Amino acid sequence: MKPETLCLHAGYEAKNAEARQLPIYQSTTFKYDTSQDMAKLFELESDDYMYSRLANPTNDFVAAKIAALEGGTAAILTSSGQAANFFAVFNIAGNGDHVVASATIYGGSFNLFAVTMARMGVEFTFVDPLCSDEELEAAFRPNTKAVFGETIANPALTVFDIERFAKAAHAHGVPLIVDNTFATPIHCRPFEWGADIVTHSTTKYMQGTASIIGGCVVDSGNFDWNKYPDKFPGLTTPDDSYHGVVYTEKFGLGKAYITKIMAQLMRDFGSTPSPHDSYLVELGLESLHVRVQRHTENALKIAQFLQNHPKISWINYPGLPDNPYYEIAKKYMPKGTCGVLCFGVKGGRAKAEEFMSYLKLATIETHVADSHTCCLHPASSTHRQMTDEQLKAAGVPADQIRLSVGLEDADDLIEDINQALERV
Ligand SMILES: *Cc1c(COP(=O)(O)O)cnc(C)c1O
Repeated sequence: MKPETLCLHAGYEAKNAEARQLPIYQSTTFKYDTSQDMAKLFELESDDYMYSRLANPTNDFVAAKIAALEGGTAAILTSSGQAANFFAVFNIAGNGDHVVASATIYGGSFNLFAVTMARMGVEFTFVDPLCSDEELEAAFRPNTKAVFGETIANPALTVFDIERFAKAAHAHGVPLIVDNTFATPIHCRPFEWGADIVTHSTTKYMQGTASIIGGCVVDSGNFDWNKYPDKFPGLTTPDDSYHGVVYTEKFGLGKAYITKIMAQLMRDFGSTPSPHDSYLVELGLESLHVRVQRHTENALKIAQFLQNHPKISWINYPGLPDNPYYEIAKKYMPKGTCGVLCFGVKGGRAKAEEFMSYLKLATIETHVADSHTCCLHPASSTHRQMTDEQLKAAGVPADQIRLSVGLEDADDLIEDINQALERV
């Protein structure tokens, strides 16, 4: 089935006389007739549920829908996109290990990797997504365990050459992890280009209405952990906390990686989403294909309007032909990129701030990728402690506005932006 159909039909399927819509299993725990039934759960011998910190049926139905959309073999929901990226990496890289990551990733992921995971003993080397083959090759070390990048980076809007990075990762015997939040499986399915694991912040387009924080990790089932048993002992040698279970042996390549996240990381860190929040993700997913298309069409129209506007100094949108990532974007996302674009207002920091104050439709907030158009001026908010020079070095110029285009009528949005620019 096509993604458009999977949005509605994958995951939960009602049997005879069952609820049409996904039930919310709002229960911490599950009841058993005998203690032997329960014992099986603690040996990972049963697919039944024991405690919602590890797994919950509502969450799993939604994860199954996302797995189907991405073309993966297994998936798990997390309480945030941050937790998804942390679990995706930490499941295979620990103290003494190393990871190669794109330098233009979400600020929260950069901080997680460069600061917090560094404190846990995982080292990261960050590479420019357009680096030379020599630079990419030089980033790998004998203890490298994964490569990480974002299909479309938030907010740099660089496009990741998935096929190229997958080849490099595989040549070094490690998987490629791709954060597919901005593209969504409607525009790009990274597994088709060689990625092994996909992550999402479901907070963004997947849920779509700025109502919940959530995440997801999806496995393609394609990476053969058994080929490199010395690199990935957590998957290929016995886990003493479950009486010596070997994940790849017991669950096969399709399920080993996600089962290990559930059995170890969810058990120990508890970054599990509320079943009610997962239900809201389910509702969002049912219209993902329609919404993403509209977000993208609206963003392209606004980008085309802005690129010729006399009060705009620059614009960054990978759907515009003169963007340095246009060709890569066309290869991976022939139907369009995303609803987020960045531009500079002539006159710098003060003028950008003034422009935002005149907007009537676009609200000022830190969020992106939801149904209402919103915008952010990093220099006066998220990055306000930095000087103009520091902002330039960080790739966030003082005049930059990030616009997340919603589902309103594009002409109404253009009119609003135009009147604000005219008043500046
Ligand atoms: C927002 C975001 C995250 C973090 O997700 P949360 O749900 O806010 O924790 C990770 N990656 C990308 C690309 C994002 O846009």
